[in-house]
Amino acid sequence: MSVEKTLSIIKPDAVKRDLTGKIIAMLEEKGLRVVAQKKILLSKEQAGSFYAVHRERPFFDELCEFMSSGPIVVQVLQGNSAIELNREIMGATNPEQAEAGTIRKVFALSMTENSAHGSDSPETAREEISFFFSGLEILQFCHPIRVSVNNTFLPFPLRNSLKTLLYKRCSCGSKSSSIFFAVLSSAIFIITCPSMGP
Ligand code: ATP
Ligand code: MG
Repeated sequence: MSVEKTLSIIKPDAVKRDLTGKIIAMLEEKGLRVVAQKKILLSKEQAGSFYAVHRERPFFDELCEFMSSGPIVVQVLQGNSAIELNREIMGATNPEQAEAGTIRKVFALSMTENSAHGSDSPETAREEISFFFSGLEILQFCHPIRVSVNNTFLPFPLRNSLKTLLYKRCSCGSKSSSIFFAVLSSAIFIITCPSMGP
């Protein structure tokens, strides 16, 4: 498992229905983090250029019309196996075939108005991210895994060393680093707490 970035789009049908927050929550709940985001309105030509790979398909014109019919939220998601994970959370292209609980099953209106886009390979993720974002717009720093529960009990120097360690290890959404930190912080809490008094 490696930390990846992927391009995600919340499509016009979902933005129009004020589902942006709900969709982001579904992505974040599964361990994906937003490291770049903006709300934009594409022209039909820009939509066509983004979906150029489908230029010869019968649905191309309808797709470009739809993708330029209202604002979209474009975002870069980061996490372990982010490309595959994002597509799992989105569900199948056709909402009727999507698994229960996926974004498309819950929110999509049709095959075209299917609420979300996700890159389908590392190569397309790189191309699609650079289609919408410059390097400067993508957060390189990942916020640390939640540490506050035991951390407040730690003496100041120890707390700082622990934070430094955590920032270095942070791999954004990594379950293994969360577990690593939970075990480490609990162990330090058990060792240091009795000597700290009331
Ligand atoms: P996306 O690229 O948007 O994440 P996808 O990878 O699941 O979707 P693609 O085959 O790349 O599916 O199709 C791109 C988009 O074109 C689909 O999300 C859908 O909006 C539209 N689309 C695909 N197939 C059809 C179809 N048969 N009829 C109408 N629209 C379609
Ligand atoms: Mg696709």
